[in-house]
Amino acid sequence: MIVYLTKGDITEIEADVIVNAANSFLEHGGGVAYAIVRKGGKEIQEESREYVRKHGPLKTGEVAVTSAGKLKAKYIIHAVGPRYGIEGEEKLEEAIRNSLRKAEELKVKSIALPAISTGIYGYPYEVCARKMAKVLKENWNLDKIIVCLYANYAYDVFKRIFKEEG
Ligand code: ADP
Repeated sequence: MIVYLTKGDITEIEADVIVNAANSFLEHGGGVAYAIVRKGGKEIQEESREYVRKHGPLKTGEVAVTSAGKLKAKYIIHAVGPRYGIEGEEKLEEAIRNSLRKAEELKVKSIALPAISTGIYGYPYEVCARKMAKVLKENWNLDKIIVCLYANYAYDVFKRIFKEEG
């Protein structure tokens, strides 16, 4: 398994699965979620609503799967991260771990993850980077894990922490 850190727009990444930083209602109105639906098409939003109608809203830390619409990926895994100051960072760890578990279940080889909870939900990049480093060290049956950072500063923080955490 190889882990890559990359800078840019996650919708441009070639991976079997793209992880979305979602909210409990899977309403993709802002941040990375909006970028995914804008490029992937409204079917992603429609499938998301269908999921919530059937199963109810997701709890923090949980994930749901939809197609990737017009994106090259096979699936989107929508992961609900915690809100800073309201929900604890163990939920961020859960959201990351559940995303990778779901990818394994889907029998895919590659997955791209954004910095969950570090946008609208307000977590510091450093906390997210440490959680990612911890979870990625676990034994995953995936060939390639790409962590995709949007801001230059986010990329620098992740690079430093990944180096520190080995
Ligand atoms: P959350 O509500 O979980 O904080 P956001 O979508 O607001 O989710 O932000 C999560 C992270 O995704 C932030 O660091 C943000 O800068 C980043 N981001 C926003 N757009 C994109 C994109 N197109 N590709 C990758 N990362 C993105």
